[in-house]
Amino acid sequence: MVGRGPGVVSLACRADAALSEAAFVHREDLSAEKRLLRKVDADVTVVGSGPGGYVAAIKAAQLGFKTVCVEKNATLGGTCLNVGCIPSKALLNNSYLYHLAHGKDFESRGIEIQGISLNLEKMMAQKSGAVKALTGGIAHLFKQNKVTHVNGFGTITGKNQVTAKTAEGEQVINTKNILIATGSEVTPFPGIEIDEDTIVSSTGALSLKKVPEELIVIGAGVIGVELGSVWQRLGAKVTAVEFLGHVGGMGIDMEISKNFQRILQKQGLKFKLSTKVMGATRRPDGKIDVAVEAAAGGKNETLTCDVLLVCIGRRPFTGNLGLEAVGIELDNRGRIPINGRFQTKVPSIYAIGDVVAGPMLAHKAEDEGIICVEGMAGGAVHIDYNCVPSVIYTHPEVAWVGKTEEQLKEEGVPYKVGKFPFAANSRAKTNADTDGLVKILSHKDTDRMLGAHILGSGAGEMINEAALAMEYGASCEDVARVCHAHPTVSEAFREANLAASFGKAINF
Ligand SMILES: Cc1cc2nc3c(=O)[nH]c(=O)nc-3n(C[C@H](O)[C@H](O)[C@H](O)COP(=O)(O)OP(=O)(O)OC[C@H]3O[C@@H](n4cnc5c(N)ncnc54)[C@H](O)[C@@H]3O)c2cc1C
Repeated sequence: MVGRGPGVVSLACRADAALSEAAFVHREDLSAEKRLLRKVDADVTVVGSGPGGYVAAIKAAQLGFKTVCVEKNATLGGTCLNVGCIPSKALLNNSYLYHLAHGKDFESRGIEIQGISLNLEKMMAQKSGAVKALTGGIAHLFKQNKVTHVNGFGTITGKNQVTAKTAEGEQVINTKNILIATGSEVTPFPGIEIDEDTIVSSTGALSLKKVPEELIVIGAGVIGVELGSVWQRLGAKVTAVEFLGHVGGMGIDMEISKNFQRILQKQGLKFKLSTKVMGATRRPDGKIDVAVEAAAGGKNETLTCDVLLVCIGRRPFTGNLGLEAVGIELDNRGRIPINGRFQTKVPSIYAIGDVVAGPMLAHKAEDEGIICVEGMAGGAVHIDYNCVPSVIYTHPEVAWVGKTEEQLKEEGVPYKVGKFPFAANSRAKTNADTDGLVKILSHKDTDRMLGAHILGSGAGEMINEAALAMEYGASCEDVARVCHAHPTVSEAFREANLAASFGKAINF
């Protein structure tokens, strides 16, 4: 790990040195023209204020760099805060509470409420309130940390220059380093035009004005099942059409995926797996016909819905960034190639987050942002992508980190499996919330934890314990010997480690 504890102090000193080297020195020796050319407005200019960009900007400023962050949107926070993680989690949480109250769940717990109804406008207002508070919070953090915020479209106009088109005109920023954190955009589906009204992307699906009767989701990956769950809980009949043969997207353990699918189906979600969408047409009555066909070819049918959600992934966003001008070429998937220090082929230009390779996740972007600027200050640069957790925030949640059983088989790694069902966990039982299990994969010879896969309530919180264990190279016995508070659902995590390490859990 870098940049923790005393290391930060030494990095800050190095940053100070970089600053004085870069800024406004020897002015009196220069002609007026040269002065303009030599003038450095910033040490670090970050383009984009998503979780990668804004966190990097704050860290850079904390390390002593004179930092500017250019953001084209009116609010800070990027996809994550405005149209991603935050609004989707607000709707997931509230739709789940509605589902508990409206369905038989509350009643079965002796909580009887008459006349439950949905006020969608209010639910959306709560979501917008959370987004507003959090994006405003970044503006506050920028001020507190002395990050200069430029609201404009940033274009790289030189190896050490960014030009921002702002409402007031063009602002040229001469800068020692440029950090590209321009993120990603929705991948369009060829031939299906998104209007964000009845044919929507994830962005439109976060702001529907009424609950659709029938919602078809193209893609049963993470975002597809999350948003499908939201609208299903609020009353829509939801069918997700997925090209792959499983739900939950890439990287999910197949045993977990099968259990997850079964639970979601019990909740009412329908899946058409190994099926491809061929096209969509609007009917005069406003409904949408969606033509689908078996992925292997052959069997086809037409499904009908009133809202179609296109959810086939995201692609890096580099539009009008000016990369050509500095000779940076994209890879075959539109990503910016970088080296181990997040440097592009131009050493003064760095890139992080969704715009570079790796999982498109907010916390991955954040971690990259922090270590990238620590690297600029002379620090070591290291990230273990195997320890980046993934979470699906449905109910139950799905969370994993490290290798899947399929990956270990493919790589020929000898492994052991330890499992523990939440049905045998006392807290899950008292909560009457017992769906799912913890599955731990460990090295057969060394007992080192290689993967953790959790399907269950609170999996998204519990997975951080696994990430910590794996980051520090813990064995399953190490985890099993750590005292866990009782009664907590995390005891299931300990028990699964016990099962992996000793071949048997205590309570199952
Ligand atoms: C519905 C949904 C739910 C999600 N849920 C989760 C989740 O629960 N957990 C998770 O980890 N991830 C989630 N994600 C993914 C997550 O949002 C992204 O991985 C993350 O936002 C990437 O961060 P970033 O900083 O790389 O880019 P972004 O967040 O995309 O930010 C890029 C910023 O750069 C700005 N920009 C682009 N070009 C320019 C330019 N030339 N000049 C100025 N500004 C520019 C953009 O306006 C934007 O603000 C979700 C995504 C979606 C769509």
